Formats: sequence, C-alpha cells, structure tokens
Amino acid sequence: MKEFNLIKQFFTEQVTNRKDVILSIGDDCALIAPTERQHIAITTDTLISGVHFPVDTPARAIGHKAIAVNLSDLAAIGAEPAWISLALTLPKFDHLWLSEFCAGLFELCEYYNIQLIGGDTTQGPLSITVTAQGLVPLNKSILRSGAKSGDWLFVTGELGDAALALQDIQGKVVIDADYKEQVHNKLNYPKPRVLAGQSLREYASSAIDLSDGLISDLGHICKASGVGANIILDALPLSKVLRDTIGIDKAIELALSGGDDYELLFTVSEDKKVGMETALANAGIPVRRIGQINASEKITTTMDSKVVSINVQGFEHFSNSNEK
Ligand code: ADP
Ligand code: MG
Repeated sequence: MKEFNLIKQFFTEQVTNRKDVILSIGDDCALIAPTERQHIAITTDTLISGVHFPVDTPARAIGHKAIAVNLSDLAAIGAEPAWISLALTLPKFDHLWLSEFCAGLFELCEYYNIQLIGGDTTQGPLSITVTAQGLVPLNKSILRSGAKSGDWLFVTGELGDAALALQDIQGKVVIDADYKEQVHNKLNYPKPRVLAGQSLREYASSAIDLSDGLISDLGHICKASGVGANIILDALPLSKVLRDTIGIDKAIELALSGGDDYELLFTVSEDKKVGMETALANAGIPVRRIGQINASEKITTTMDSKVVSINVQGFEHFSNSNEK
C-alpha cells in the first residue's frame, strides 16, 4: 500500500474537528489559529518497541500509550491538550495492527477533543513519536522550578502498579489471577492526569509527571527549584495488590523507583493546601501528601518519623553506556 493511501485510510477521517484548525492533514503543513491570551505548550515523546513497551504489547495499548504519555506532560505543566502530530515508523503494512493502533489513539483524542493535524509515515523498526500541543492561560503554567522550602509534596493516584506489571511480564513476580488484568492495564493503558493538571494551575508551585520513578522525577523538581525534599515512606499510596504481591518493603521500593506511573507529583504552599485538596476532591481526583520540600538540596526518606536510607534509582536511558 502507498504511504498516502495508508494515511488517507487510517488518519484523515476523525471525529474531532476543532474550530482552531485551519488546515489539517493533506498539505505540507497544518495551520492552526492560536487564540490570544494563551500560551501554547508543546511536548514530544517517542515510544520504541522493546524499550518503552514490551515487543508483544497489543497495538491498541501502543496507540493509547503514545498519546497518554504526551498528555501526561501537558498535564504536568497545566495545559489543556489541543493538537497532535504523529511520526510513525512501521516494519510492514499490517491492516489489523493499524486498525487497533488507531482505535487506541483516537479513543483518547476524541475524549479530550484533540485533533491529529499531521505527521510522517516511514518504514523501519516500530517506533512512534507524538508531538502534542496544548493551551494554557498566560502565565498560568506550572513549572518544575517553583517549589519552595516548606511546600508540601503531593502525588495523585497510586504508585508502583505499572512497574509491578512489567515485573510480571519479566517473570519476576506472580500476580493473583483476579488482579492481573487490572495491574497490566496500569502499564498498558495509563490514564494521564489531564484534569488534575488544569485544576492545579491555581494551587501548585511546581509539578512534574512521573514517568521515570518518584525519586528520579522528584530529583528534577528539586534540581530545577534549588531545594531538597523529605519523603514520608509510610504515606506512599500503594495499592493492595502491590502490597499483597511483593510485601510492603518491596512495594515501597517499587513506588520510589518504578517507571510508567504517569501520576502527577506536585508541591503546594501551606496557604493553598486546603484549596487544592477541595478542588481535587470535587473533581474526584485522589491525592496523597507524601512529604515536604526543604532547603537541604537533598532527598531524604523517613519512616515512623525516623530517617531511613534507601538505595533505589529511577529509569535512565544511558545508564549502561560510557557517556558521563
Ligand atoms: P511531505 O512529503 O510533504 O512531508 P507526506 O506525504 O509525508 O508529506 O504527508 C502527507 C500529509 O499527510 C501531510 O499533511 C502529513 O502531515 C500527513 N501525514 C503523514 N503521515 C501521517 C501520520 N502518520 N499521521 C497523520 N498525518 C500524517
Ligand atoms: Mg513527510
């Protein structure tokens, strides 16, 4: 099949039809009409088979995840998603695979009123790059650099389940059959915290989405803000299945180091804490206070109010190479 036939068949017809899209798929560029008084937030993420998802991941999950990981970045900065472009490299033309991939991709696009406005299609080892753009009211973005000593540290949802699913795939753990699907869905169909991100514009002093593990991503906030933080290990939100499968100590380790959670980690000053908790409770978004920012420029952990040392790391792409 010719490249443009494939594009026409799978990508040109969509439900989403935004008023601000002047020209969509089919020309050399897309044209969008940005509104005044808003900033455009732009982010790109690549998913490579065998690196970002196991090779036998269902096509529908790959389509979902390619969008979800980008929406998670938009959420972290407080943006409302609007437009995406898709650079797709496929080993071969596979009608069934593409149909399933598109189902996963467009499901999220339709839900959030996101329009696919262009892309590129090439042949090679399976790889998916999505650029997502969103809108934020002027100067309302939530940056990594805004955390202040004394701010409270919060996280949405629960941590570690996606990493547990990966361990299951790798044969390192055995998940109770009743919970297996639920846990694997956390890895394959992450739910980006799009509404939480927009709700947090008024309250959070800093935010990041959790893709590489809590310790690693908290490190980015601390570095960008020139602060340190203490994590209260007893407060980490851990699912029952995570605790039951690997025990509390390993569960804490996985919550600190496991990737792919796509929850939001954010900081809130004392005077905005109650407002934030009310806003997120009204939106039905679970949050947990898991620590506090301090001036130390280090990350520490406590349990039963005592300092404990931990030895965990987040995911790093070049950790095995000679690069320094
Ligand atoms: P060009 O050679 O000018 O880059 P292409 O033949 O690559 O054009 O693409 C034709 C049109 O289809 C362009 O508007 C492009 O944005 C769009 N397109 C190509 N691949 C995809 C894709 N995977 N998803 C969405 N749009 C695509
Ligand atoms: Mg092209």
